[in-house]
Amino acid sequence: MSNCVLVIDDSAAIREQVVRTLKDVGLFDRYKQARDGLEGFKTLIESKADLVICDVDMPRMDGYKFLQLVASRPELQGLPIIMLTGMMDFNSKIRGLEQGASDYLTKPFDAGELVARVKVQLKIKSLQDELKKANEQLKRLTNIDHLTNLFNRRYLSEILEGEFFRARRNRENLSLIIVDIDYFKNVNDTYGHQNGDVVLAAVANLSQLQLRAYDSAARYGGEEFVLVLPGTSLQGGQMVSERLRQSVLDFTFPPPMEDMTLTISAGVATYPSINIDSVDSLFRQADEALYRAKQNGRNRVELMTG
Ligand code: GH3
Ligand code: MG
Ligand code: MG
Repeated sequence: MSNCVLVIDDSAAIREQVVRTLKDVGLFDRYKQARDGLEGFKTLIESKADLVICDVDMPRMDGYKFLQLVASRPELQGLPIIMLTGMMDFNSKIRGLEQGASDYLTKPFDAGELVARVKVQLKIKSLQDELKKANEQLKRLTNIDHLTNLFNRRYLSEILEGEFFRARRNRENLSLIIVDIDYFKNVNDTYGHQNGDVVLAAVANLSQLQLRAYDSAARYGGEEFVLVLPGTSLQGGQMVSERLRQSVLDFTFPPPMEDMTLTISAGVATYPSINIDSVDSLFRQADEALYRAKQNGRNRVELMTG
């Protein structure tokens, strides 16, 4: 465990006592010290600590002000802070807890109590970190289509709303490509649903390979995919679609589909355009273009007409 503790107190003797107590039980790898709230805060900004033990009464900047500064920095949220207060000073304990301290210790402190309280805070912190990670993982999973690993339709709408807003505000292009696999029913009928799924995952992968950092790809329906390309013109969208169309055409699927030739059709629409004033109309234009690609014989890319 690579843990760092920061001890803030204007008394060098107390700092040493705290550090020695913690060193005796080997709870941390690194021990930092500061003489007041400001120095402590600067130390924290330079490199993060896993726990802070902080005196209340200090010259220049006291413990309360330190708590306020920490509360103002998003990256320091959740940092456990144990306040050191005078024996009878109930008010300062309450005030500290109200201002974001995790716990307090009364001076002169008992070594065993200090260690026990620090352990509790580290345990809480590690549980909170685990919870946060699990939540992030969960959030990621709710945005992802399991078969293809692309974003799902729900998350696509979220992305599109944001990108459309941004494109309008910054007067930038936003291209949308709808891709539909041609005669996909035949793949299922000929090779079975499971192989159909393999094809979907492969086309999703080929789509992903066309993307740049700010682009997104989503599975829109059964065998339909949507690519969102911020800052990309209609011609740019056409190029990406053509490259994808060619890469699907050239792709060799795993057995038993190695002799199969698969094609896709795509429709491209780009904001701004006279016919597009919303995500819905952007979609409509791309969908109409896709429809024409199907009508005109499939294995084609068509652009919006507006
Ligand atoms: P078109 O060229 O006109 O697009 O013909 P198509 O056969 O691709 O068109 P259609 O949209 O009618 O058929 C889509 C098929 O995709 C129907 C459905 O069985 C299949 N499908 C939808 N979701 C999945 C899936 O998750 N896995 C598999 N294997 N097939 C799926
Ligand atoms: Mg299809
Ligand atoms: Mg379809």
